[in-house]
Amino acid sequence: MATAVTKAKQLSVPRDVPGRFGAYGGRFVPETLMAALEELEREYEKVKRDKQFQARLTELLRNYAGRPTPLFFAGRLTKKLGGAKIYLKREDLLHTGAHKINNCLGQGLLAERMGKRRIIAETGAGQHGVATATVCALLGFDCVVYMGSEDMRRQELNVFRMRLLGAEVRSVNSGSRTLKDAINEAMRDWVTNVRTTHYLLGSVLGAHPYPTMVRDFHKIIGCEARAQILKAEGKLPTAIIACVGGGSNAIGIFFEFIKDKKVKFIGVEAGGRGEALGDHAARFRGGSPGVLQGTYSYLLQDAAGQIAATHSVSAGLDYPSIGPEHAWLKDTGRAEYVAASDAEALEACTLLARTEGIIPALESAHAVAEVIKRTPRMKKSDVVIVNISGRGDKDIGIMRESLELE
Ligand SMILES: *Cc1c(COP(=O)(O)O)cnc(C)c1O
Repeated sequence: MATAVTKAKQLSVPRDVPGRFGAYGGRFVPETLMAALEELEREYEKVKRDKQFQARLTELLRNYAGRPTPLFFAGRLTKKLGGAKIYLKREDLLHTGAHKINNCLGQGLLAERMGKRRIIAETGAGQHGVATATVCALLGFDCVVYMGSEDMRRQELNVFRMRLLGAEVRSVNSGSRTLKDAINEAMRDWVTNVRTTHYLLGSVLGAHPYPTMVRDFHKIIGCEARAQILKAEGKLPTAIIACVGGGSNAIGIFFEFIKDKKVKFIGVEAGGRGEALGDHAARFRGGSPGVLQGTYSYLLQDAAGQIAATHSVSAGLDYPSIGPEHAWLKDTGRAEYVAASDAEALEACTLLARTEGIIPALESAHAVAEVIKRTPRMKKSDVVIVNISGRGDKDIGIMRESLELE
């Protein structure tokens, strides 16, 4: 259940309060979790300045995950669309196939430092669950992943993958039996086992310090991209485009450019199969501010504050809320948010596959769909970076059902 608050301004919180992005963010949790969140915040503040911790994380990001990822000039796609130069940030080349491993390694090392050897996580499509199970195997932790039974049915292969990696996958049968119900269950577990357990949250969502901490573990994407584009083009990009589920890959690539006011940020939400509530997951199109799962942000909800059903062809974008920092970037006009439909994302997959030989995840294909709409109207001297947050192998089954190829 969400607490509906119609206007962000009604919570007039100064913007420099930790964990707040304007009025958004915060820590709306039961008292039983406050001590754990405070401990996590304290430890996280310490490791930010700890050279040993940072060196170990850098080593794993390089030699285990495969960083830095390339920034690739998409020459044939650029020529085909006939406008701005298009560069792809290749997070799809990371170990486990998406950006999620950046955050899992960071939080895994943090849990180790806090002496917590049991990790719990939620997962929707299974990508965050797989990345979490991977890091738990690497660091020798017990791992429990909560997953809605409906998602387990749809993503059988990822359930097996997690089990192969040694994780226990617990089926959640409440509510819509999908991601938000899995998060509720993970929070319930955490309340009970907080002394031994770290909750490894998978996006820039939840109570403070998660949105800030998860962003920081992903900001390396933008740090690399900034240096890479300066080297390749001798200037900053005109625009950066990324898909937005919870918003971690998007804020990860945006953040290092936030003071470069001339660099436009475009976040792409799931437009799904239509405009009606229940047919999409575009929180900025049909949503309004409210509290869900620990944080105050835009939500898809009905007039009573009940969470609406969502739909997207891409499971990673199919969530009723969005990271609070994105709500702030939207309200202040620093970022623009648009939506791409299921059909547009599928079409973008085919185009990227055939022009560049890269099959993107359906999530990332939403960003590519916006590239297709926007870059032909831009100048040839403009430069666009699109974040390819993950690879499409996991989605081949859905693509095969939805695309008729001759
Ligand atoms: C999980 C996922 C997303 C959505 O999550 P964000 O936190 O919005 O980045 C996007 N792309 C891929 C490939 C994913 O696995």
